[in-house]
Amino acid sequence: MKPRPRFPIALLTFFAAVLLTVFLPVPAYAQAYAGKPKLIVVVVIDQFRGDYLYRDRDEFKGRGFRLFMDEGAWFTDCYFDYANTKTAPGHATIGTGAYTDGHGIEANDFWDASRSWNHKVTSVEDERYQLVDLPPSSIPANQPGASPTTLKYVIGASPRNLRATTLGDELRLATNGRSRVYGISLKDRAAILPAGQAANGAFWIDSSSGLFTTSTYYMEHLPEWARAFNASDRPAQAAREAMVEGTTQFYDLVGRMPAANRYELDFTKALITGEKLGANGVTDLVFVSLSANDIQGHQFGPDSDSEEQMILSLDRDLDRFFSWLDQTVGLQNVWLALSADHGIAPIPADAAKLGIDSAVVNLETLYANLNAALNARYSPAKQVNYLMPGPDLPYVVLDRRAFEKAGVDEKVAEDAVSGLLTEAIVPPISEPPPITQAILPTQTVLPLPAQHRLPPAPQVAGVYTRLELAHGSLPPSEWGRLLAHSYADHGNWYVMLVLGAYQMEDLHGSIGTTHFSPWSYDRHVPLAFYGAPFAPGEYHERVAPVDMAVTFASLAGINQPSASVGRVLIEALKPIKQVAGQ
Ligand SMILES: [Zn+2]
Repeated sequence: MKPRPRFPIALLTFFAAVLLTVFLPVPAYAQAYAGKPKLIVVVVIDQFRGDYLYRDRDEFKGRGFRLFMDEGAWFTDCYFDYANTKTAPGHATIGTGAYTDGHGIEANDFWDASRSWNHKVTSVEDERYQLVDLPPSSIPANQPGASPTTLKYVIGASPRNLRATTLGDELRLATNGRSRVYGISLKDRAAILPAGQAANGAFWIDSSSGLFTTSTYYMEHLPEWARAFNASDRPAQAAREAMVEGTTQFYDLVGRMPAANRYELDFTKALITGEKLGANGVTDLVFVSLSANDIQGHQFGPDSDSEEQMILSLDRDLDRFFSWLDQTVGLQNVWLALSADHGIAPIPADAAKLGIDSAVVNLETLYANLNAALNARYSPAKQVNYLMPGPDLPYVVLDRRAFEKAGVDEKVAEDAVSGLLTEAIVPPISEPPPITQAILPTQTVLPLPAQHRLPPAPQVAGVYTRLELAHGSLPPSEWGRLLAHSYADHGNWYVMLVLGAYQMEDLHGSIGTTHFSPWSYDRHVPLAFYGAPFAPGEYHERVAPVDMAVTFASLAGINQPSASVGRVLIEALKPIKQVAGQ
């Protein structure tokens, strides 16, 4: 047999060297530690559906939204992959690249059995801290009879409920704390949660005065530049622009106007200047969450003239902000991203006019009926409250103390509520009620077929118990995965209630619409990037907001956030040599 030819050792070494040269020491896109980029700015628009950018595309001017759409990588089909589309979990998801089952935040506020049976805690409230530098008018008076020397303060906030690290946390860890990370919003949760545990600061407003504040979790007093901002004419100017001069309801009245976006972006500029961000030798990071769109959007809905005006006004404000960034830090040194914390449903009556089955459900009545049925089953002739008050879909929280007293365990309790909920919303088909004179005229024998379309009727798409979520007893489908991603545990028993698409709780007219569901319109948000590594284009791959943090982490050469589940959006990345050559 002919011996197999053997490559001389020298030749092997040569090939190995060639392979190494070709494949190994490639220049990284950037390195956070080397200050490439100098600054990452993530703009989160509170309540901004993914289709808005298409809808108003022809109206956009300059380099606001168009900076992303024309010069950046714009993902048109970005959907949150979970079922609880609220503000706090949305912001936590953007920061951590994880869903509720990873970061632990399922709602804006929730019952936490380990902290209080008397009130819900907000996702960020933290009684171990206090808010700082509030105007005296925003600090409540002491209780009658309290000592005049009693300290007066407002309970603080922190990321104590966040169970995962954020992109910012990983930047701080990777650079031994040299990277500086900040969050800004009108809302505390939207400033704190995307920034993370190790953030240098998170700033939000005092709702009556509009002055920016923070919590002693971060610092004892606001930095000098923030105090100067608060002391300037800027808060009053925002109120004038919103035509509510002298208001003491800044959050509600200025917060819902385009002026609020300019106000937040100006504060962001003050932060970048004041903290010299982008001039630090490492990568700094700012999350700015623009709240105005949400405050207004709940009221007038996504299809209103005011929504369009808000979007077009924000387009101009972003143009000015990005142009300022270009003049100061230089856009060539910056990576930008744009996304939102959730979408929104149309106003139910508007959708119903088109024939959509957009019914509303009165939750107060539903809870009363549920309690009555539970009492009949477990405590006849009594009026025990089996449900924690303050319904907040998609979660219906049980009072486990009441069930335990009645000798009912979690499985039986949750199964009971699950069954009764479905029946309460969609009564089972039964014998038709006897036709009486009070209902129909005597000459009517049978109801005639409807001569016009019937009004929307509530539907239950599914009810899932905490135990089912915890044990993964869910449909082996995308639907099951959405639900599993919404699991959180704060020591309560609960069920998740999913109404039919375009259906929601009855908001009693005070607000027009809301977001909370696993349906596409609540999950569809923009995702777009701008910066040296990104290949400009319009991308139609189905992606998710969790992909943002992991893509940035990968590009910056740092660890992905601790519970992240996103993927690196390689389809939108330029070839490495092209980036390195820039
Ligand atoms: Zn929101």
